[in-house]
Amino acid sequence: MLFKTNTELMTQARDGGYAIGAFNTNNLEITKAIFTAAKQEESPIILAISPSAAKYAGMENLVAMARVAAEETGVPVSVHLDHGTEWEHLVHAIQAGFSSIMYDGSKHPYEENVRLTAEAVKLGHAAGISVEGELGRLVGTEDQISVSEREASMTDPDQAMDFIERTGIDALAVSIGNAHGWYKGKPQLDFKRLGAIQKKVGDKVLLVLHGASGIPDEDIRTAASFGITKINIDTETRDAFKRGVAQFIQENPDVIDPRKILKPAIEEMVKIVDGKIKLFGSAGKAAGHIAELAGRAV
Ligand SMILES: [Zn+2]
Repeated sequence: MLFKTNTELMTQARDGGYAIGAFNTNNLEITKAIFTAAKQEESPIILAISPSAAKYAGMENLVAMARVAAEETGVPVSVHLDHGTEWEHLVHAIQAGFSSIMYDGSKHPYEENVRLTAEAVKLGHAAGISVEGELGRLVGTEDQISVSEREASMTDPDQAMDFIERTGIDALAVSIGNAHGWYKGKPQLDFKRLGAIQKKVGDKVLLVLHGASGIPDEDIRTAASFGITKINIDTETRDAFKRGVAQFIQENPDVIDPRKILKPAIEEMVKIVDGKIKLFGSAGKAAGHIAELAGRAV
């Protein structure tokens, strides 16, 4: 298979003491930026595609671009469904050739989340790909919630153990104060809780941090030291895209060539992805995966 599964990439990362960036794409320019940075840093990456990205660009289009980029660059990559919430998202992703899926049942009551995630795992494993689940609810940065509500939305280590045993997931997205979108003020991550989760289930499941855009570098390093091996970045890439386009148009109001308008956006995004790859420690780690691949083929 051209694409690696998340389990393959993340297991090597856990053994090697680094984390892998999962970068969301919506179009050709973002995909190009992610692969350009991965190639120049010789890093494995996870290309994350959400159902809404698939709705915008077409799931098959996004996978086809990933396939071409993977062949051209030789970068070890997993193509991953981000936040699949409906059964049809999972089936469509598998049919399109994804190597990993996330089923996000976190909006459901616990027992329902267990039941639906276990079904998703059966589906994914039958297709030979890895499955990520989510326990605890990731609150949006816009949500007005009290401290006790915040606590209640976080992943409970004991419940995580039960969830993993009953669903058979390969990877678990944790909720420890992380959120999607920009943070208001400094993010307050509960590392004590993450430490407890790692101690309880760190040898049974791979750990994932969503909403990592805007989390300070030192907190990212701390999260990785507690066994986080997949770190999701979307908001910072979007911001770089917008910055590149906005600046170019401001300086060149008469240019109408989309290629000229979008090139600076790609360059801004490459800088962001490249910086994250260095921060996560996955730079230079592609070689191991390629050697392993070559060894297998012989
Ligand atoms: Zn997420």
